[in-house]
Order: sequence, then C-alpha cells, then structure tokens
Amino acid sequence: MASRKMTIRVVLDTNYAELVLDVGKVTFGEKNRKKMKDCQLRKKQNENVSQPVVALLNSGGGVCRAEIENENYSYEKDGIGLDLENSFANIVSFVSKYLDFMQQGKCFLIFVKSWSSETSGLRIATLSSNLYKRDITSVKVMNATAALEFLKDRLETGEGFSLIPKSPPKRYRFDVQEESSMKALAADFFNRMQLRYREKLTFTESTHVEIKDYSTDKLLQRIKDILPQYVSAFANTHGGYLFIGLSEKNQEVTGFKAEKSDLDKIEKEIEQCISKFPVYHFYIEKKKINYSCKFLEVYDEESLCGYVCALKIELFCCAVFAKKPNSWHVKDNQVMQLTVEEWGQLMLDPEPMPSEKVTYVPEILYEKLFSQHKGLAQLIHNEIGSVRQGTLIFSKSWSLDLGLQENQKVICDTLLIAQDRPPVLYTFLRELNKELKGYSIQTALTLKKKLVKIGGYSGKVCVMTKIYSSEESSTLIEGNIRLLHDSSLSAIYPKSYTLITTQTMSDLKKALFIVLKRLGTLNDQFDSEISQHLSDNQYGLLSEE
Ligand SMILES: [Zn+2]
Repeated sequence: MASRKMTIRVVLDTNYAELVLDVGKVTFGEKNRKKMKDCQLRKKQNENVSQPVVALLNSGGGVCRAEIENENYSYEKDGIGLDLENSFANIVSFVSKYLDFMQQGKCFLIFVKSWSSETSGLRIATLSSNLYKRDITSVKVMNATAALEFLKDRLETGEGFSLIPKSPPKRYRFDVQEESSMKALAADFFNRMQLRYREKLTFTESTHVEIKDYSTDKLLQRIKDILPQYVSAFANTHGGYLFIGLSEKNQEVTGFKAEKSDLDKIEKEIEQCISKFPVYHFYIEKKKINYSCKFLEVYDEESLCGYVCALKIELFCCAVFAKKPNSWHVKDNQVMQLTVEEWGQLMLDPEPMPSEKVTYVPEILYEKLFSQHKGLAQLIHNEIGSVRQGTLIFSKSWSLDLGLQENQKVICDTLLIAQDRPPVLYTFLRELNKELKGYSIQTALTLKKKLVKIGGYSGKVCVMTKIYSSEESSTLIEGNIRLLHDSSLSAIYPKSYTLITTQTMSDLKKALFIVLKRLGTLNDQFDSEISQHLSDNQYGLLSEE
C-alpha cells in the first residue's frame, strides 16, 4: 500500500529557509503524462506529489521538489498535467491561493503556503476522508467539508446511541409510499430462510438497500472490494442491507452457486474485513461495528440451486472509515499519514490555533519612541515576555486621549490588553516623580469608567497601573530605568476581575474602540483591527450621541 511507506524525504541541506520535501522522479507535462504506459506508476507519481503537498499544507507550508523525469521538458510549453492538476484542485479550493509552480533546470518546485482555516472552517487539508455516506442509491466518499458536517452532527445529536427505535408515524392514508417502507420490506426479506429462484422482489434499491448480482466467479474478491465503502456508508447513514445474489435489472432472485464450505469462507472473510475498518469514537463508550451476515437458500422447484448473501449493517455510534483518512503531516522530519484519532481531533477542534503574539499599535508612534528611548523596547519585551496573545496600544498620553490633562513629565503611556491578565496601563516618565502615581491611577480609573459607560463593556474588569521612570537623563536608557510603582502588588482584586479570556479580551478591545471613536482620538491601525469585529449593537453605541 502506498500509504504505508513513502519515498518522500525531508531535505535538510537546502538554501531555502523552508521545509523542503524531495519527492523523487516525476513526469511532467500533459502530453507526457498522457503517454505514460504504466498506469500504476502514473498513479504512484501522482500520490508522491499530492501527499507531500498535503503534508506541507498541514505543517506550516514549504517546498515540494521533484526531479523531472522526461527529457526536454519545459514548464512554459508543456504545462503540468491534468491528473496532477485535478489532484491539486481536489485538495484546495483555489489552487493559486496555495500553490506556486516553478521549473529550475531539471527540478520542478511546488511552493506550498500554509493551510488556512478561515474560509473553509477546516483545520487541515485532506486528500480523501475515506468516510462514506449513502445518498439514495449511490455510495459516495464525503469530501472534507461534508465529513466535518457529518462528524459535528454525530457529535451533537449522538444519534448513534439512541437505542429505542422511533415509533412509526400513524398512517391516515394507505397509498403512502416512503423509504422507510422499503427498509421494512428489506427487513422482512432478510428474515426469510428460503427464497424461490426468479422470485420477484417487492422492494428496490434505496438509501437503506443495495443489491448486487455477482456470479460465483471471483465472488469473494468482489465482496472484499466493495465491503469497505458499503459498510462505511451504511454504518454512517442509519444502517442498511446489502444483498448479493439479487438481480437489480430484473428485480428478481438469482442467487449464486456455492458449496457449504464456500459460505463459511465468505462469512469469515467478511468478519475479518469488518474488524479491520478504522473507526473514530467521540464517546468513552466504544461500540463495535454491529452487523449480521446470513445466507438465504434459493430453491428452483424442490431443489436447492444457490444462495443469497444478506448483510445487515446497523447505524454506528460514531464514524466508520473504509480506510485511514488520506491526510498527511511532517513529524520528526518524516512525512507521515495522520492516524484516525489525530485526524478526527484536528477536524473537530473548534479553536483556531492561537497566533501567539502581541501586536503593537500604532506603528509610527512606537517605532519613533523605540528609536528615541533605547531602553524602551527591551523593557517592554521583558514586561510582556510571558504574554501569549494581546495588543499593546501606545499613546503620547492616554490621559489626553481620554479627555484629561496632559502631563509634560510623561514620555508615553501604553495600554496592554492581553489574555490571562487584567489590562495594564504603563506610564513611562522622563524623571523620578512619585507624585505621578496619582496621575496614573486617575487615568486608569477614567479608562475603566469610559469602557463601561461609553464602550458598553459589561463584564468585571480592573485596570492595573505600572510606572517606570528614567533615573538620570530624560530618555529611557537600558540599565537606567526604575520601576516606581506597580499596583498589582498593592491593589488585590477578586479572581473574577482578573480573568481575561480570549472573549473578554476581544470585548474589551471593542469597548475601547468605541470609547476612542466617540472621544475622537482613535488612530487608524487600531481602527482597522477592531472595526471588522464589531457587532450591530456596538455600531449602535457608536452612533448614539
Ligand atoms: Zn463510538
């Protein structure tokens, strides 16, 4: 199986500051790929390119490097090849958004951008979910979006656990025909012991019934071929029946000829096959795939002339795969297929990866401040060292921004809104001045009041204050800065006041945006970051005068 072993190699010796994967020899160009006589090789090459592309999408991006197999290849004249293009289009919704192609002599490079979940809601790229569903009479593999929808539905409704069958609705008319009646007829059929040769069927194929008319020749192989997709589809779509030995064309019983020993062999193979299907469970209780297999005897006049293999597959508690989902990542310098558990968890993980960074705004101001005060950047870096996510908003004077008096001794103020800690108002002074503690507290108090009154912030919050000053000169130089005051050491709040989650952080920023907008002191960068997240209600607050 191609998925087990891979010839793909992580290239460590490269000029690119990227994860580079060497995929070996590949034929490129539509004409050349079409001419390939070895279909297996063509398929293998396709996998050797598309699987690493998925691995790179799922591992922060990188470069996929192939050695061009065909002589005199030119990307400009020959193109890539339709089968490869189809694979790429199957992985990403817009190829050009994620992939760039480049020929460098005998090398073909595919630059892969990191996967983004923004539009699709999917955390990872997948070549095939290998999760099947039943759509009326056809069995289809779910694409990644359908698979996510299916997993979420299963998780939310837990319908695989409803053991009590819903009572059938009362009938007021007798000529109503529904799918459920076909299922009931198939159930009756399944429970029979004997059938008559060429007996007419009372039901046809439907969401819950599939009919196959296989002859004895290669019967076992054909069953083994179709079993994964049918078991997966029925188990994921409310169960169903698979009958082998019925003619769909003539709607009658045909049966297949077999010895008693053949039947035992078929039954054992089916059991082995089903026990190997990968499953993903959401719950602690882990059920097995529930099914029953039986052989119905077919009689022509008085003599036994064959059998019908009848398989009843029940609705599964969680998800049944035909085989491991075809999705990849790079782990420990190796391209690896995700396990069912890894894939399921990544698919269902609701939180996008935290961007793990602190944003400084506005850029023009802090860059100017950092260049004038050499110690400031390092000081701030140390201060926010443990902050994973947050925004640091610089101002010449927060006090002025809030409509208070400015103080000439203040170099700048900066407000930190971050996760897991209350907002902190930092004040940086030109000279030692203990009196300015009151100034700082007044600013913080005003800020908090305005966040609630104007900004509409409704949660519990406190604003901490921290004052640093230059010891000798009027600029902040490293080793020359002193902490004058830290309110967190003396003003202790209940825990509920300091618990800032991602949500409260976002609410605080929105409230702050409204305050600054109303006071007319909003700067552009903060504007663009926040304004797109405002709700209608909050826009209402803005326009109120
Ligand atoms: Zn389960």
